[in-house]
Amino acid sequence: MSNDILENYIRLVQRVDSHTRRVDAAFSGRMACKKGCDACCRYLSIFPVEAFAMARAFLNLDQDRRERINARIKEAPEVCPLLVDHVCVLYHARPLICRTHGYPVTFESDGALQVDFCPLNFKGVQHFDQEILISLDQLNQVLFAVNARFLDQIDTEPLLPDRIPIGDALFLLA
Ligand code: SF4
Repeated sequence: MSNDILENYIRLVQRVDSHTRRVDAAFSGRMACKKGCDACCRYLSIFPVEAFAMARAFLNLDQDRRERINARIKEAPEVCPLLVDHVCVLYHARPLICRTHGYPVTFESDGALQVDFCPLNFKGVQHFDQEILISLDQLNQVLFAVNARFLDQIDTEPLLPDRIPIGDALFLLA
């Protein structure tokens, strides 16, 4: 699979990463989120475009590691199989939900805008400036459009489901 077909997705990932780097800098020392803090690494379902990006990265792991991860899917189905010894094996290729998790996000619920973030982070912070907040509704809209464009460009038979469990996603290109 060429990079071109994932270009829009890669660009979106870069935008999100650049935003979260700014948040890291603004709240330096007030975020618990770091390597080993992995309570949020549960079993996920992701969009096909993310699934293919992860499957491609997964192919670059050595066979032993791929087999170990495959075994983990059966051993602990509720935990993300990529979490090995408290470290994400494909951290550089993790999906967008993992890139935004724990950061201050907004989303609409029952007609009202809600703000959420990991309770371990931002201790004592009472207010977030608008530019710090990630609108999950907007991000999901863009991701949805990027995914739709990606699906237009590939030809799969049978058609892919709307969301793909991470354990299946890893083996899409195997
Ligand atoms: S992909 Fe990586 S960061 Fe995301 S849930 Fe799995 S182990 Fe955690």
